[in-house]
Amino acid sequence: MTDSGHNRGAGANEPLVRFENVQKTYDGEILVVKDLNLDVERGEFLTLLGPSGSGKTTTLMMLAGFESATHGDITLDGQSLKSVPPHKRNIGMVFQNYALFPHMTVHENLAFPLQCHGVDKSEQEAKIADAMAMVELTGFERRRPGQLSGGQQQRVALARALVFQPQIVLMDEPLGALDKQLREQMQIEMKHIHENIGLTFVYVTHDQSEALTMSNRIAVFNDGIIQQLDDPETLYEKPKNAFVAEFIGENNKLIGTVKDVSGDRCTVELESGEMIKALPVNIGGVGEKSVLSLRPEVITVEPGADNTCDDIHTATVRELIYMGDHTRVRVETCGNDDFVIKMPRGSGGRSFDVGQDIKIGWHSQDCRALDAA
Ligand code: ADP
Ligand code: MG
Repeated sequence: MTDSGHNRGAGANEPLVRFENVQKTYDGEILVVKDLNLDVERGEFLTLLGPSGSGKTTTLMMLAGFESATHGDITLDGQSLKSVPPHKRNIGMVFQNYALFPHMTVHENLAFPLQCHGVDKSEQEAKIADAMAMVELTGFERRRPGQLSGGQQQRVALARALVFQPQIVLMDEPLGALDKQLREQMQIEMKHIHENIGLTFVYVTHDQSEALTMSNRIAVFNDGIIQQLDDPETLYEKPKNAFVAEFIGENNKLIGTVKDVSGDRCTVELESGEMIKALPVNIGGVGEKSVLSLRPEVITVEPGADNTCDDIHTATVRELIYMGDHTRVRVETCGNDDFVIKMPRGSGGRSFDVGQDIKIGWHSQDCRALDAA
């Protein structure tokens, strides 16, 4: 195959989708997508995660072709999508209200879009059989949506997006309407379907645990800007800024001012007076405000004589919540009265009394100093 002039050579190593300097405004004033540069790799499960209004759906709609970018370009397989209408983009979509036709069987629901596109009968059957196999619903063709569980209906909606053998599947909060237990089950099913069929998925959610469960990579959106794009583990372990630290997982915040930066550690003086050693992540210089981020599970309680903690402080127990596999201990320490520690089952958390003073400690590499601006 030769590369034509306008196809900039979409080889196997090239990203499937590229957003280049994409901006979007609906009203001509406010940019709801500010300057988006994002590659979607072939075969990955990429999630756009962020609070409501952060620009996730707009980004997905621009890729699908239902909204146009006001600046920049989006390419699919190396080809600009600028003049390609939605139905010619070879993109499958699943929405939250998956809108299966209730009076049609599953088979009819899948056949309908194919008929609309003039696909001939025998080809329709092959495509429907393939799609049903992909979502592991072979045998359910004659049922109506009302005769399926919520999770099965969701898989039918996915099958309907798969019948055209799209290059990429876009999903916008597809599990939002399901109850928690079913949603968690569907997350695992979606992840398995993705692994089995090897197609590229771009998934939108505001639910961080959903994103962590399913994704190969997560783009964290806020205010029309990608704050961080990483695999789930890196996002959780190494948030690059205060927004990401706060949005992903649980986070204890201590607020102070940078006093000293030397090598790979800095010292932050808290508003309550303590000097804390931390890992400088994106702080300004000495004198700048910083927020220290500590995950609840990195805290050592009652560190023994052999401990290697860099910081040890007194904490007053305010609340104990038994969670089965762990106990959540809420303490007041270092000027924060909502500081949460997770103590694994059997590590003594339940024996504390409310009002009791305990010692807590941590390693400075687990205490991340982020810019508070
Ligand atoms: P998200 O999916 O992350 O919740 P959206 O992309 O839907 O965010 O919205 C981003 C911003 O754009 C919001 O402020 C929203 O109100 C605005 N917006 C979304 N769609 C439209 C539209 N069709 N017309 C005008 N403003 C819109
Ligand atoms: Mg949305």
